[in-house]
Amino acid sequence: MSKNQKDIKCSFCGAGKQDSLMLIAGLDAHICDKCVAQANDILAEELTLKKGKNLNTTLTLLKPQEIKNHLDLYVIGQDDAKKVLAVAVYNHYKRLNQKVTKDEVEIEKSNIMMVGETGTGKTLLAKTIAKVLNVPFCICDATVLTEAGYVGEDVESILTRLLQAADYDVTTAERGIVYIDEVDKVARKSDNPSITRDVSGEGVQQALLKILEGTIVNVPPQGGRKHPDQKMIPVNTNNILFICGGAFDGIEKKIANRLRTQTVGYKFKADDNDVDLKNLYKYITPLDLKSFGMIPELIGRVPVITHLNPLDRETLLNILTEPRNSLIKQYQKLFEYEDIKLDFEKDVYEFIVDKAMEYKLGARGLRSICEAIMIDAMFEIPSQKQDSKQLVIDMEYAREKFDKSDLKKLKVA
Ligand code: ADP
Repeated sequence: MSKNQKDIKCSFCGAGKQDSLMLIAGLDAHICDKCVAQANDILAEELTLKKGKNLNTTLTLLKPQEIKNHLDLYVIGQDDAKKVLAVAVYNHYKRLNQKVTKDEVEIEKSNIMMVGETGTGKTLLAKTIAKVLNVPFCICDATVLTEAGYVGEDVESILTRLLQAADYDVTTAERGIVYIDEVDKVARKSDNPSITRDVSGEGVQQALLKILEGTIVNVPPQGGRKHPDQKMIPVNTNNILFICGGAFDGIEKKIANRLRTQTVGYKFKADDNDVDLKNLYKYITPLDLKSFGMIPELIGRVPVITHLNPLDRETLLNILTEPRNSLIKQYQKLFEYEDIKLDFEKDVYEFIVDKAMEYKLGARGLRSICEAIMIDAMFEIPSQKQDSKQLVIDMEYAREKFDKSDLKKLKVA
């Protein structure tokens, strides 16, 4: 080195070796630790700004119709829910881009409640919508939550998950979507305010209120109480969209009661006969949620309610084959890796759907039935020398494999 060690200075701030922790040498210059830290901060700030701008532009591009078209690629039917979701999400992101001045109308947040039997596509809808919008998304289960201080997870853990989904980038997480599944399981046990403590029911609802309405919540970055000294990250929930979902088992009775009592005392109207008794979910109102045990304050913070229709035979058949990543397409892809073209005879589809209906397994059951039929082929084919490049699953094969499987032992519900 030609220069005297004592003469070396930071080329940015001029600090000498004795003034800094470390001087890093470049080709013709040096930089001290303080200047490195400062440059890092400037860079981080610029990147966040840029990210924020990008987010705004990509979000405004999607109109409700476009969001729905995209949902159609992955989710079969459920048009009402798709429309409501598309509009709510569009408005939500319109609100994000609103620069509120003093006298302008402020658009309020529109969290969403999806009510429908299990396996009808609630999670799938929420997941697909987050994918369309390219925002961080997380799913959490309301059943594991308890009131703070009790065994179970605190509601803040929901936001920990969102932070993790956003790679701990708080600005991005603050525009994310959270899907809270099985929210019906935190209903209070009776319609009256509880006398004893209800830490996994009403207690959780009270705790949820806080994060749903939009405040700054201190979130433990690793979640849980196992790391008591972790530094909390403040997260503003004002722009986080919460989608709640639940089966609300038994709510049909409450809806039916309400519909019936509404007609008492009035003349029976001709169109009362039009009530679709097979799908009472579509008449759901906030009132029914309240009589199910959701507290009014929480219902107030989830103003958009939508329902999912039960899946009929035709819908199940479509689910099996139509969506972009339908089960059948997934199996075909798996066999493609073995250089084999997989085909199914038409009646095999019908057989799978019939079994799913028979065992009341819904859309989730389709997978188990397909697996039962395909498992032997998936096990044997990779290590066999193949003469033929095609595998056709016919009725005989499907029935034989299904009859052999454990599923067959299930009692018909
Ligand atoms: P939920 O959240 O309502 O209990 P999910 O969204 O988890 O149900 O659905 C379970 C599985 O069933 C999904 O992974 C998907 O493969 C399938 N499924 C259910 N409903 C539909 C639908 N309408 N369109 C396409 N697939 C569906």
